[in-house]
Amino acid sequence: MEKYYEAIKKFHEKFEMKGTNNEDMNFRLNLLIEELGELAQAVTKGKSREEIMEENIDLLNLIIGNFVSIGASLDEIDSAFWKKHDKIMNRKKKRIEGGNYRVSEFK
Ligand SMILES: [Mg+2]
Repeated sequence: MEKYYEAIKKFHEKFEMKGTNNEDMNFRLNLLIEELGELAQAVTKGKSREEIMEENIDLLNLIIGNFVSIGASLDEIDSAFWKKHDKIMNRKKKRIEGGNYRVSEFK
């Protein structure tokens, strides 16, 4: 995670994103939606594993960029990750409509 975080932080610095729309979360949501759409197309159109990997990397880069944009430190990300991980590890897995399975809180 640290190497990826530092790489994306450098990307933000190189293109002077601080204080611009590039670090505005509303703008970043649009980028995420765009990239999610590209991943959806790659999957639904049966594109190669390599293309599906690339679209996932686009999303990962944007997510890491979100952390850089909001000024989250690596320690903060690590702590938030494990907090959430503990939570989801204590969830139940259930069969839902359509025969699919889901891990959720099921209130
Ligand atoms: Mg893409």
